Amino acid sequence: MEFSISGEDKMFLESVRAFAEREIAPRWVDIDERRWPIEEVAAKLGEAGLLGIPLSSKYGGQDGTFLQAALAVEELAYADPSLATPVYVLLETAWPFIVQRYGRDEVKEEVLPEVAKGRAFIGIGSTEPQGGSDVASFQTKAVRDGGVWRLYGEKNMVTGVTTVLNLPYGGGLVAITRTGRLEDKHRGITVFLALLKRRGQRAEGFEHRDWEEIGRHGLPTGYLRLEGLPVEDRFMLGELNGGFKIAMEGFDLARTIIGAASVGAARWLLDRGLEWIRQRAVFGKPIASYQAVSFKFAELYARLEAARLAVYKAAWIADRIYRGDSAFSIKDIATAGAVAKYLAVSLAVETALEVMKWFGGASYFKETNVARVLLGTLSYYVGAEGAENIMKLIIARNVVGRDYV
Ligand SMILES: Cc1cc2nc3c(=O)[nH]c(=O)nc-3n(C[C@H](O)[C@H](O)[C@H](O)COP(=O)(O)OP(=O)(O)OC[C@H]3O[C@@H](n4cnc5c(N)ncnc54)[C@H](O)[C@@H]3O)c2cc1C
Repeated sequence: MEFSISGEDKMFLESVRAFAEREIAPRWVDIDERRWPIEEVAAKLGEAGLLGIPLSSKYGGQDGTFLQAALAVEELAYADPSLATPVYVLLETAWPFIVQRYGRDEVKEEVLPEVAKGRAFIGIGSTEPQGGSDVASFQTKAVRDGGVWRLYGEKNMVTGVTTVLNLPYGGGLVAITRTGRLEDKHRGITVFLALLKRRGQRAEGFEHRDWEEIGRHGLPTGYLRLEGLPVEDRFMLGELNGGFKIAMEGFDLARTIIGAASVGAARWLLDRGLEWIRQRAVFGKPIASYQAVSFKFAELYARLEAARLAVYKAAWIADRIYRGDSAFSIKDIATAGAVAKYLAVSLAVETALEVMKWFGGASYFKETNVARVLLGTLSYYVGAEGAENIMKLIIARNVVGRDYV
């Protein structure tokens, strides 16, 4: 058991921290106010080697680990606690990795180096208007038509479509589609890398519009109508009707790194809160001297430590699995990823609310910036990449057993 980050990982962490402090932290409010477009941030992240950390160098990646991705994303969230930058990186950690694992060579060789350079974005096209939690009941169809697949249906709350359209190469989504009958449930699901823009050319067959979010404004999320979007066969990931497990694997990885983003935001909040409670004197004493304040700090600090360890453990399990350790299976990362997201996301939101109380009335004004963090962390609290109840469902099913839950 080793509780310190050492060797190569420590050097990596220090270099990411230096990059984040220099390039991102001074401008995170600009990102949230959309004065610094995410496409330009992506180019910087690409130059720094932070996109596609676990991708193979064969595809322009870093040959890194999920633990390194978690360390990087925590630092980026500390630098941009609105979460736009770390979420960009975490999506580009999980979903391109799924393309690397299940995609055809020629597709990987074309698209993944563009992702790594920050010239393409690959997000996840999962949620549908009738509900995002029940993936096995999704209705978006992929049908064969004259040698290609055509995608028809609606995806909702999809992050990054505008980003794809603004990036030089483009990119698209790991799209979850139905290729079997609805009654086939999860056995009738196929996933494709559905490119909405490729080599600078926008595809035909879709419409989209962004929603106006309450927070995390730097990274747009919107509605997507698929009206026969053509996808060549070679962009299928894995096998026909074998997509459900692939999608779940992507979610497990994403949730692990979402945990890291939430830990980074919570650490930023606690650090700002700590400075404040030491210096803000009310009734003649720093407010840190009131146990109602310092005990709450202690509680949140303890939860932060626990959440970070849960994230590291989930990332460590992912690394064991992908380096061929047969002692672990995908089910282990499902449970560990759900634990990491469950602990870290609720912690970040509750820390934001508590720190806002410590700041008092000042926190209600944008200038204090704490509310930006609350609004960013809420994205994962209300559902992005799986609702809190779904995290509990995964843990309960895997631990208590499917016969019961
Ligand atoms: C900022 C943001 C970005 C997003 N980005 C993406 C993206 O890039 N791609 C994408 O595909 N989606 C994205 N989403 C959507 C997200 O994945 C969904 O919100 C999530 O999966 C939940 O789906 P839903 O909102 O339709 O809620 P529903 O599925 O309608 O669920 C509503 C509520 O019912 C509860 N519930 C549902 N089923 C159960 C159950 N079995 N047991 C107990 N409780 C249950 C849930 O806890 C939930 O709170 C994003 C969402 C947000 C807010």
